[in-house]
Amino acid sequence: MPPFSVRSAELLAVGTELLLGEIVDTNSAWLAQQLADRSVDVYWSQRVGDNRARIAEAVRQAAARSDLVVVCGGLGPTDDDVTREALADVAGEEPRVDPGLEAELRTRFARFSRTMPERNLKQAWLIPSAEALPNPVGTAPGWLLRLPRPGGGETIVVALPGPPAEMMPMWLDRVRPRLAFPTARFVATTFKTFGIGESHVAELLGAWTQRANPSVATYAKRDGVHVRVAAKADDDAAARALLAPAAAAVADALGDRVWGTDGDELAERALAAVAARNGSLALVDLATGGRLAALLSDARPSDDDAAADAERAGSLRSGPLRGAVIAWRDEALDVLGVPYAVRDAVTTDPLGAGKTDDEVDDAAALARAACARFATDHGVALTPWRARAADGMARPSWTACWAVVGPFGTEARRVTFPPQGAGARDERLAFSTLFALWSLTKT
Ligand code: AMP
Ligand code: MG
Repeated sequence: MPPFSVRSAELLAVGTELLLGEIVDTNSAWLAQQLADRSVDVYWSQRVGDNRARIAEAVRQAAARSDLVVVCGGLGPTDDDVTREALADVAGEEPRVDPGLEAELRTRFARFSRTMPERNLKQAWLIPSAEALPNPVGTAPGWLLRLPRPGGGETIVVALPGPPAEMMPMWLDRVRPRLAFPTARFVATTFKTFGIGESHVAELLGAWTQRANPSVATYAKRDGVHVRVAAKADDDAAARALLAPAAAAVADALGDRVWGTDGDELAERALAAVAARNGSLALVDLATGGRLAALLSDARPSDDDAAADAERAGSLRSGPLRGAVIAWRDEALDVLGVPYAVRDAVTTDPLGAGKTDDEVDDAAALARAACARFATDHGVALTPWRARAADGMARPSWTACWAVVGPFGTEARRVTFPPQGAGARDERLAFSTLFALWSLTKT
């Protein structure tokens, strides 16, 4: 049979747990990426509970407007799994036990020395317009169904089991080879910025964000605002030719707020900048409970590279990272040997009022102390969070200072974040600090 030509697709994840927020619909995210990689347009993706009539309604609607509908979930053996029943309703057919599927199912149970509960028999059901898709991992085969479309042609509806370990290989090995995808090529590049809000970024981009192809879109992420430039054309060269001028214009508009592109990570860029100066780095962190150190630690070179470097240097770890002090109490700062005056000023908490300048100085002194303690030429310090009661706000905002010292001198800043959970503000402070480190050390 020739492959089914698919230009548009739609996703339907089935399961009441999804609607209750008990599980997250990772299947749809994965399938959406699979389809985007093949230049298939996905205009709708929805979740529906374990309800026969509503699943049938959603499938009818999807089948009327898309070339391919991928349904996942609801193929289990129990009464609440009703995807097969719903698909039979849509096709207007009666499910029957398929003798071949039944034999396979019984063999499978026998192989694991178990008798098959009779309720599993529904996993051997089939309807005349469906063919079964073998499941190498679990007991539930999938279905591939061809539905005539009102205006002519047909829609392919594929039903796959919910567990990702079953759904993914079935998509890759059983469904994908049966489909013919558009030949159009889709290329994209992402610019990653920090320190400006999404609306400000949009302002800098001007009319670019209003175009469809090439398209320019902004996304607020944990490490700043990302700007994605994408283009679609008949072949790779044409898509790249379309992308290039847009990408150049976007890079130009964003200037040195861009710290990286595509797979770059901010911590990795900051460490690379220190390494490029043959620098070394020490930290003292009284704010984020080690988050900053963890981001930097994760950004070290891959294990093999690090091991080779370490051997050459005769040290435990190569790379710019030397040491960190992560403290929650002032006594813990003794290890740095910093003067008591600094230590007290840093850790007593007068709710932030009027302390701005001293605190910034304290941060700088701590960063210098870290350099001295670990014999580095670059140092970073974070002072503890202070709550600040703000006018008209029920909850306080939070402020802390970062300092970065190095051969270029000292930079220290106070940052204030609106009320939010401790984890979120720790992460924002860590990224602010990494951006400062990168900005100051990049050449
Ligand atoms: P089901 O096939 O609907 O009985 O689903 C069986 C199990 O697969 C669920 O309990 C989840 O653990 C997982 N699952 C189902 N649907 C999804 C989905 N859309 N995304 C991720 N996991 C899912
Ligand atoms: Mg279910």
